[in-house]
Amino acid sequence: MNKVIIVTGASRGIGREIAKSLSRENNKIIACYNNSEKEAIELKEELEKENIEIDIIKGDVSKREDCKRIVEYTIDKYSRIDVLINNAGISTYNLFTDITDEEWNKTIGVNLNSVFFMSQETVKYMIKQKEGSIINISSIWGLVGASCEVAYSVSKAGVDGMTKSLAKELGPSNIRVNSIAPGLIDTDMNNDLTSEELENIINETPLCRIGKPEDIAKCVKWLVEDTFTTGQVISINGGWNII
Ligand code: NAP
Repeated sequence: MNKVIIVTGASRGIGREIAKSLSRENNKIIACYNNSEKEAIELKEELEKENIEIDIIKGDVSKREDCKRIVEYTIDKYSRIDVLINNAGISTYNLFTDITDEEWNKTIGVNLNSVFFMSQETVKYMIKQKEGSIINISSIWGLVGASCEVAYSVSKAGVDGMTKSLAKELGPSNIRVNSIAPGLIDTDMNNDLTSEELENIINETPLCRIGKPEDIAKCVKWLVEDTFTTGQVISINGGWNII
């Protein structure tokens, strides 16, 4: 494919798998991490054994200045950005009545402001290039809402709203914007689920399993190659929710 691709939250989980699979397709990957430096270095070393070079860069995507630095690093090194994958995210769980301002602001900051900052910093270069693609990883909860996850659900619904609006605004500049809204995927994010809760979800899922990071990475790869899909929210959830 030979594209320059920024992946946020590439140190662990879904983003790590996205970075791996796209780097194996001959793309230049800028893999962003924040706290998990050891995991990011391990990812780089794992790919070096396959003779694949990736860039790893630290930054907190809830901060404008870090997003700007990540984008400028990429432009300085590769002179273009073909694809931005806004994947970094956190989950928060609390009764609505107990959510503090701090929890609310952190969730919106990491999950939604980051998409605004990274996209705004990147789009100015994509407009000059007259092409580009933004892929946002939102969540099924942004579509259907989750009890005790109001902040998380709002942040992800906001991401999908940004996807649709930006697709309309940027389509004439040949920039596509899409969301992938995963159902339950087997990553650290779900470490707190009990085996009973997991079993219940599997029982409610027509494909009788939870998702793997690879399931999301395959859809990302397809969106990277595609040229006529924009403004869509693609939910990959094993049939757990069928609209
Ligand atoms: P994960 O395993 O917990 O990984 C989260 C990633 O986000 C890590 O690489 C982490 O980097 C990064 N991150 C968190 N806060 C950050 C910050 N402030 N700045 C920069 N990076 C930050 O989660 P995951 O399951 O792979 O989730 C990836 C995305 O999929 C998220 O947006 C999540 O909401 C969404 N999603 C997940 C599921 C699921 O069931 N797993 C379902 C629906 C949607 P460091 O560790 O380096 O800080």
